Amino acid sequence: MITPPLGLYIHIPFCRARCDFCSFYLEIHREGRAETFVRSLIHEIGLSAQHHVITIRPIQSVYLGGGTPTVLTATQLLAILSEIRSQLTLAADCEITVEAHPSTISEGDLAQLFQAGVTRMSFGAESMEDGDLTRIGRPGAVHETVTAMTQARSAGFTNLNLDLMYGLPGQSLESWKRTLTNCLTLGSTHLSCYALTIEQETKLASNIQRHRSPALDEGLQVEMDEAAQRILSDAGYEQYEVSNYAKPGYACRHNLLYWTNGEYLGFGPSAQSYLGGARFGNVADLTAYGAALAAENLPIEDRAILSKEEQLRDAVIFGLRLIRGISSHQLHQHAANYGHETVTAQLLAQQLIEEGGGRSRLSAKGRLQADTIAGQLY
Ligand code: SF4
Repeated sequence: MITPPLGLYIHIPFCRARCDFCSFYLEIHREGRAETFVRSLIHEIGLSAQHHVITIRPIQSVYLGGGTPTVLTATQLLAILSEIRSQLTLAADCEITVEAHPSTISEGDLAQLFQAGVTRMSFGAESMEDGDLTRIGRPGAVHETVTAMTQARSAGFTNLNLDLMYGLPGQSLESWKRTLTNCLTLGSTHLSCYALTIEQETKLASNIQRHRSPALDEGLQVEMDEAAQRILSDAGYEQYEVSNYAKPGYACRHNLLYWTNGEYLGFGPSAQSYLGGARFGNVADLTAYGAALAAENLPIEDRAILSKEEQLRDAVIFGLRLIRGISSHQLHQHAANYGHETVTAQLLAQQLIEEGGGRSRLSAKGRLQADTIAGQLY
């Protein structure tokens, strides 16, 4: 029997400082609490592997995200990977990604991660212009991204992602284009380009409210998105998802798992899981997380069993984001299940969704409104 792919997500909930736009669950890194967390995480991996009976199911991808995983020492990261290998079965070609803030990793760390089997590094560059970084309160400078990319290549990494954001306060179309072209010279095989969104309760939201920072210009974001599609396609990247571009063969296997409604298990505070038709999430609180594990309990806070209709809904909503799309039969079955026939017909008539060869996907125009369309089809 062929088992469907399974991925692991490990949430490292620490950063050295909080960027002005960030609303993720995280704690400011301190050595003592990081040590305690790593012990709890290692315990959770073993407990969860036994509980979910997945010790022999091959893991296709492991993703260490956050937060900033590389605020942990290389020794701590290697201990986490070692526990995963001892408790679970990794596929021979398992993709192992580590997210890093460029200023938190050294040449020696990169060499150790590569030797430990990490196959992919993902650097949170955000922009290649120092002024942009300052205006979003993101610590660090562009030269650190350049250094980290050079050192990662020297360490042996060939699969390298840069996370970028566009539509930043004060960012012009020209400066966004410069960021993209500068990234091309750094040898990244993958680029994630996210439109800035303003999350409530962030410092940036407050700055905009007090007129200390300009409000979002959605028209400019659309132009920036179009520029990214053009520049990256000319440079040989394939856009395979609304925000993601890869050189052929370098699409992120772990993220594809999310967009194809695949199964994954999350570890660490606030990490989400989808397994056996159930979605469940860990408590988003480091103290409660540690306490649950100390009492030999999994730190799961909420769980929902999805009906077949809800599973199809999620497959449609995530899958439409992919350039390869989903089967048109799935789209129309979902529309029938949820009474969305009229809105689906409108999206097709407005050419926001396109159909062909039995597949349905967001059109180039539709990809610019992906979140709105997802809301209409939910
Ligand atoms: S480095 Fe990333 S996770 Fe940490 S505060 Fe900044 S945006 Fe948020």
